[in-house]
Amino acid sequence: MHKQTLAIRTQTAQSFEMEHSTPLYLTSSFTFDTAEDMRAAFADESDDNIYSRYSNPTVDEFVKKMCLLEGAEAGFATASGMAAVFNSIFALLKAGDHLICCSSVFGSTHALATKFLPKYGIECTLVSSTKPEEWEAAVKLNTKMVYLETPTNPQLEIIDLAWVGTFSKKHNIIFNVDNCFASPILQNPIEFGADIVSHSATKWIDGQGRVLGGIVVGRADLIRDIYLFCRNTGPSMSAFNAWVLSKSLETLDVRIERHCANALAIATKLEQNDKIAWVKYPFLPSHPQYEIAIKQMKKGGGVLCFELKGGVESGRKFLDALELLSMTPNLGDTRSIASHPTSTTHSKLTEAERLAIGITPGLIRISAGLENVNDILADIEQALEKC
Ligand SMILES: *Cc1c(COP(=O)(O)O)cnc(C)c1O
Repeated sequence: MHKQTLAIRTQTAQSFEMEHSTPLYLTSSFTFDTAEDMRAAFADESDDNIYSRYSNPTVDEFVKKMCLLEGAEAGFATASGMAAVFNSIFALLKAGDHLICCSSVFGSTHALATKFLPKYGIECTLVSSTKPEEWEAAVKLNTKMVYLETPTNPQLEIIDLAWVGTFSKKHNIIFNVDNCFASPILQNPIEFGADIVSHSATKWIDGQGRVLGGIVVGRADLIRDIYLFCRNTGPSMSAFNAWVLSKSLETLDVRIERHCANALAIATKLEQNDKIAWVKYPFLPSHPQYEIAIKQMKKGGGVLCFELKGGVESGRKFLDALELLSMTPNLGDTRSIASHPTSTTHSKLTEAERLAIGITPGLIRISAGLENVNDILADIEQALEKC
């Protein structure tokens, strides 16, 4: 069956009431009929649920749907996207191992790779998203994993997944991708050789700004190791959040279609605005990695960015002048969102550090919502006139 159907029709549990919609199993533990059943469950000889830190039927449904959407063998759901990212790295590496990580990753992932993993003896080399020669040069005898995001945030650089697939096979290293920006609808890294894919379900998957969540899917042997680690350390997703997210997956395909159409229309229109130095969107032919984007993504995604000619001051004025778009650090919501990374998320970095990862002074990131595109455009254009 097609993805749209699988996301809607996959239901792993139904109670005695024969409800049509996914039931919510709010229970911390599960009971057994016999001592033998309970022994077998603890011995991993049966799939019976034991305790919701290990597994829960509502969470399992979300995991099952995500595996189908990503083409993965297995998965484990976590309380947030960062819990997914952290455990997908920490559960598989040990002291003395080396990680290659693309430099333009999500802020908390960057901190994890550069500040926290080294404390536990896991060494990390940051490489530029768009310079494959740096990746080759970074490989060492103890390199165990390569980690990346594509499209990157907020510069929307595109990394060639097929190239990294070949690279990781050649060096026999685990290929780990944060697929949050593309969503499982637009890009499936496993098709290009990825071993593990993580998501912040907080973004497009919920898509309605309600809950935090994360998930890791991929090769069964690796997910098993992540699961065994997590069931002891406890980053599990709550049943309630899984229930919300499982319902969200039923509409993900149609929502992503509209997010992408709105983002493309906004990007196309803004390319003509004379207050703007450049616009970046993966499916605009002017994007530096357009050829790679159209090869590995079905559509360009819901995020675009642009550079205001007036720099930092214009960026702040632009945000203040917006009437419809929300000023909030999130993305992937029904409501369109604008952010100015230089004065907010990346303000603690030095100017040189910001420029090194493409955070230019007048950079504005837009997450296109589901409002009528003409209303979004009208708000952006009136704000541009004031900056
Ligand atoms: C938001 C985000 C995360 C972290 O997810 P949380 O759910 O906030 O923990 C990780 N990666 C990317 C690309 C993100 O945008």
